Amino acid sequence: MSVDTRHRCLQCGFEASPDDDAWGTIQHPPLGALTQCPECGSTDTMTR
Ligand SMILES: [Zn+2]
Repeated sequence: MSVDTRHRCLQCGFEASPDDDAWGTIQHPPLGALTQCPECGSTDTMTR
């Protein structure tokens, strides 16, 4: 099983596994649950 998938914050460059407890989740009504960066609070993140 591959474990090298990284979820990255596009604002500050924070990276962690997508299922890492460090990531927060906020509810954004039109979009559903969004992943939130623990470092800067941005939800502008992506998995690569
Ligand atoms: Zn960030």
